Amino acid sequence: MRNILLFLLMTPCHFILAQTNGNYLIRAGSLFDSETGQFRDGMAILVNDNKIAAVKSSKDVSQQEQKDYQLIDLSEYTVLPGLIDAHTHLLNREIVYPQNEFSGLDMVRTLMLDGDAYRAIYGAARARAYVEAGITSVQDLGNSGEFADIALRRAIHEGLVIGPRMRCAGKGLSSQGGQLPGLIYKYQPIVNDEYRIIKSPDDGVQAVRENVTQGADVIKIYSNNTPNNTSLSIEEMQAIVREAHRLHRRVTAHATDNQAVYNAVVAGVDGIEHGYDVADSTLELMAKKGVVLVPTDGDSVTFTQYAKLASPEDPKSMIAEIMAYRRHLGDRLRRAIQKGVTIVAGSDDYVDFKMPFAEPSKRTLIGYHESGVPIAQVLQFATINASRQLNWADRVGVLKPGYLADIIAVDRDLDKNIDAILHVHFVMKDGKVVVK
Ligand SMILES: [Zn+2]
Repeated sequence: MRNILLFLLMTPCHFILAQTNGNYLIRAGSLFDSETGQFRDGMAILVNDNKIAAVKSSKDVSQQEQKDYQLIDLSEYTVLPGLIDAHTHLLNREIVYPQNEFSGLDMVRTLMLDGDAYRAIYGAARARAYVEAGITSVQDLGNSGEFADIALRRAIHEGLVIGPRMRCAGKGLSSQGGQLPGLIYKYQPIVNDEYRIIKSPDDGVQAVRENVTQGADVIKIYSNNTPNNTSLSIEEMQAIVREAHRLHRRVTAHATDNQAVYNAVVAGVDGIEHGYDVADSTLELMAKKGVVLVPTDGDSVTFTQYAKLASPEDPKSMIAEIMAYRRHLGDRLRRAIQKGVTIVAGSDDYVDFKMPFAEPSKRTLIGYHESGVPIAQVLQFATINASRQLNWADRVGVLKPGYLADIIAVDRDLDKNIDAILHVHFVMKDGKVVVK
């Protein structure tokens, strides 16, 4: 009993606030319009239950509305739609080991020593941090064991734990070996705990049906499965895409090199994850076919932190190496934009960088800006563009009437300083106040 009392006393007030819907009048210092990419001063938002009822000039709020709606004064801040991270792995934690030459090691540790029960609890802790950091929707792309992501989505939906809206992939569809290179042959069956191994086009169709049966919102495939060296064939991916589209699910493909990106695009996928090395001609094809790119590029802080963890004796040379790689990623991001490819924000946040949960996700946005993308455009990647990749373009990512009331506030100078995105002062999800 004493422990329960202590828990209640220590529980932050936003936990209690999260329980109520109502009518709110939000006054915004500045408001980011994700459709136009403009910041607008002196705006107000009316929230009715879980939806946005109106967005208008503060001057046009009537006396009656002032009476009927409870005021939330965010006039010191910049207000924007809840952020969307289109590539998360909430239930996956990769520990960085110094001088580790065996990149499959940590996935084996996760499968053999963590297990689904621990991973779901770990995911719940991170889910709470995500929504409190202003990320109100995520697309979780596998590496969640036996559909534990779908269990977490359910627990959030039922209000058992606090977290973002989740779109879940369930198991990723991969060719032999998944992403566990070097696993001894007799231990290969543990790969099935994490990936659905595809053996033929027909088996790909069956795998889509299995995932959809378990509740998958999106189908994640591995066009190549780096760091392993097998890959799905174009025929297998075509069969998967056809069946997924028949069942109204989008397909998004892990693809790191140009061949893998090209094969997936030819097979008809809707999104490319990573696309680290991609030729201009492939980018042109993506633009033509409306295939989005989710560039999972970190920022200089996360890259530096990685070098310190991976090479603690001599981080300097590794920092130089990975910063050169970051410049390479920046170049491909600018080329993709220039070719007209729709960019969607996604962090691929699973490495334990020894920083607060959800911060690496936010730093992905800072990374895009470091690559030369203007702040307003970066915010569009993480709002309106990402809503399309989640197949939720009709409900999140924009502040306008009829959309879900996912609204956050950050430091006022966001239009000039991308770091403002790290300083969240208010979060509303589904019309409920989560952080105030
Ligand atoms: Zn990933």
